[in-house]
Amino acid sequence: MENKSIWINDIKPKINKKLDKNLDVDILIIGGGLTGITSCFYLKDSKYDIALIDADKVGFGVSSRTTGKLTYLQELIYQKLESNFNFNVAKKYLESQKYAINLVVDNIKNYNIDCDLEKNSSYVFTNDDKEIPKFKKEEKFFDKANVKYTVQKKIPVNIKCKYSIKVDDTYVFHPLKYILKLKEICMKSGIKIYENTKATQLSKKDDYYICYTDKYKIKAKKVIIACHYPFFVIPGFIPLKTHIEKSYVTASKVDETKKFNAITNTYPIKSIRYHNDDNKKYVIFAGESHKLCDKLDRCSNYKKIIDKTKKDISRNIDFYWTNQDLMTSDNLPLIGPLNKNTPNLLLGIGYNTWGMTNATLAGKIISDIILNKENKYKKLFRPDRPLSMDKIKNLFVNSYFNGKAFAVTKLKKNYPWYKNKVKFENRNGVNVGIYIDKNGKEHIVRNLCPHLKCSLIFNMEDKTWDCPCHGSRFDIDGNCIQGPSSYDIKIK
Ligand SMILES: Cc1cc2nc3c(=O)[nH]c(=O)nc-3n(C[C@H](O)[C@H](O)[C@H](O)COP(=O)(O)OP(=O)(O)OC[C@H]3O[C@@H](n4cnc5c(N)ncnc54)[C@H](O)[C@@H]3O)c2cc1C
Repeated sequence: MENKSIWINDIKPKINKKLDKNLDVDILIIGGGLTGITSCFYLKDSKYDIALIDADKVGFGVSSRTTGKLTYLQELIYQKLESNFNFNVAKKYLESQKYAINLVVDNIKNYNIDCDLEKNSSYVFTNDDKEIPKFKKEEKFFDKANVKYTVQKKIPVNIKCKYSIKVDDTYVFHPLKYILKLKEICMKSGIKIYENTKATQLSKKDDYYICYTDKYKIKAKKVIIACHYPFFVIPGFIPLKTHIEKSYVTASKVDETKKFNAITNTYPIKSIRYHNDDNKKYVIFAGESHKLCDKLDRCSNYKKIIDKTKKDISRNIDFYWTNQDLMTSDNLPLIGPLNKNTPNLLLGIGYNTWGMTNATLAGKIISDIILNKENKYKKLFRPDRPLSMDKIKNLFVNSYFNGKAFAVTKLKKNYPWYKNKVKFENRNGVNVGIYIDKNGKEHIVRNLCPHLKCSLIFNMEDKTWDCPCHGSRFDIDGNCIQGPSSYDIKIK
């Protein structure tokens, strides 16, 4: 059983060089996950000079730890959108998801991309009688929106289920193979891609932006923020408008795969899909989702998903990993110019765990905005859209959870599950966290997240220092491995 995502197993990409000079470009894309690389892809034939930088390797962020379903059946999202906005908004979101699925499928066909694309059915299901009225409500929306679906009292696997809705015309694929092929296509078109190049600051001067990396600067007329969570707080105040949700995933070898994927509508989420990679067949199971500031004993969360996999799915587990996604206050992603005063600073973030479709959509919408092309979904996802009731309510909820996480990490540092392997001390006036490895060596870091100054918790399973407020992660020696922080916490 290996602690790594199934998608990065056996994939050894050719890594591009780090930025080694100052640049002056028309468009800078910060982040090479599905959002950044799709934006690049749809801009590749334009007249613009484009550069993309990634703090790590293209495709190896959140997009490489997803479950890789391409579906418009996203739990029971449509009734949420209908009650928060109205029927038309929910219907437009539905159309946008179908549109995004078609974009991916067309790209795969047109460029002959080998990424294990498979058409299958999607189910949303429950084993709780009390949840069934919500399913009936979703059916009403589907009836009104002319969506074909069927209702059953089971799903095609032996997991308890009292009610399910099934739709067809959905897919699963290998997200990393898809992203790496898009990267290759973009590079062939002349787009400059630099890896191991982290943006640390962004400032506006006259009619252009300057992006700072550790040594060099990039001057750009337009900047696309595709780094999953912006590394800056102003402009945008994204931490106030969003929260992070964390989930745990397993993959187990099976003899036969089944042509369906499924998800529950309530916490703790159970999500399942199969994966067929040449001769290797797997079932992928995800769940135990929680807000980042809750369930701080990450080891115990891993144990729960592993136990559930063994009970419901498979006795043997080959891979297990964790992933986190950015959730917005009103269930709609944030795509487009940050606000009307920053038309050249464009965002693609906040996909509420449905980023295979929404990151694709973001790449297409952002490129259409830049190329002055019509796109009927531009307005729907505007980051500066008006406040809705959910958005107002969730602004308070997010502030509460962020505040709670901040307070918890300041008030309580030591937990029983650290089993004397983690210590907190003040050394020479600096609050440090110390992890003692299996050889007794101390690894010392500054115990303060550079992003918004939360203290950190130690993740005993992944051996990382994690910020429970906004999701930054650091290795045992203080190197930042996931944002929003773009700085390390090494002790000099
Ligand atoms: C458990 C789980 C399962 C999921 N399953 C599904 C699913 O089945 N279907 C679905 O549609 N969605 C799913 N999602 C959601 C989806 O995976 C994400 O929404 C999507 O991958 C986000 O893509 P991204 O491009 O925004 O981010 P990323 O893939 O993280 O890309 C961001 C990139 O930016 C880089 N970066 C970060 N900071 C900087 C910086 N300062 N400078 C330069 N580069 C930087 C990173 O290295 C990274 O490569 C799931 C999410 C979770 C948590």
